[in-house]
Amino acid sequence: MRVGIDVGGTTVKIGIFDNYQVIDKFVVETKKETLFTDVCESIKKRCNEKNYIIDKIGIGLPGHVVGNVIDKLPNVGIENMDLEPIFKKYFPDVNITCTNDANAAALGELLADGDKTKSAYMITLGTGVGGGLVIDGKVRDGSHSNCGEIGHMFVDFVHNFKCSCGLYGCLETVASATGIVRIAKLYFDKFKTKLTKETMTAKDVLDAAKEEDPLGLFVLNLISDALGRAIASVELSVDVDTFYIGGGVSNAGDILINKITEYYKRYAHFAVKNISIKKAKLGNDAGIFGAAYL
Ligand SMILES: [Zn+2]
Repeated sequence: MRVGIDVGGTTVKIGIFDNYQVIDKFVVETKKETLFTDVCESIKKRCNEKNYIIDKIGIGLPGHVVGNVIDKLPNVGIENMDLEPIFKKYFPDVNITCTNDANAAALGELLADGDKTKSAYMITLGTGVGGGLVIDGKVRDGSHSNCGEIGHMFVDFVHNFKCSCGLYGCLETVASATGIVRIAKLYFDKFKTKLTKETMTAKDVLDAAKEEDPLGLFVLNLISDALGRAIASVELSVDVDTFYIGGGVSNAGDILINKITEYYKRYAHFAVKNISIKKAKLGNDAGIFGAAYL
């Protein structure tokens, strides 16, 4: 059996898998000081209670991780921590593998998609924009464990907003939930709209687009253009079958996926015009599923 762990700020999701099926799932509420010992203890306890025999633990982490060593998890507040000795203390005979949570989610989506997809790229549109790459069924971390950081691709020459990473014009500054609201506010006075400037959320903006609100449609076009251009550039380097679009913003559904695809086709090289761009379907479970099969 395999264990997949998806680490969030104070909530850690854990899944037990056997033969690509989830057989148990639970959540550990914890704090950063005791996060990984709490996780190990709860898995150990569960395994003892239910007689699970595990031979693999995979961990998806929200930040930069090199091998099994955490470099930095900005939203959790943990830095420079080697997870191998912590897990080995509880599970001495179990193989441990770590990766970025977006990579784990990318693998989870790919596995859930059936046999025909071997290579895929996942883009998560949430507070920021993340990404993960799977080639021939294996997550690719890259030489600096920075593979998939599509959120910091330079795509916006027009507004050149400063990004949290220190660069300007990153994809994340326009195509994240925060970016969507930022763009909507910037152009608010140029359109007749039913949106409310002070309180609108990314969901409100994309819901307005569904009702053909002029500002909503303008923002939808602008972010889809940025995403379509980014995906066309990435595809030239990675040549995958499928791009999955996940994260809270992807709940806008078909209107967003269709618009991104429309712009993608405009920018894509002729040899890769017909790849598939789909909404991710596992939601919050993609991370644990992918982590278990790293
Ligand atoms: Zn950036």
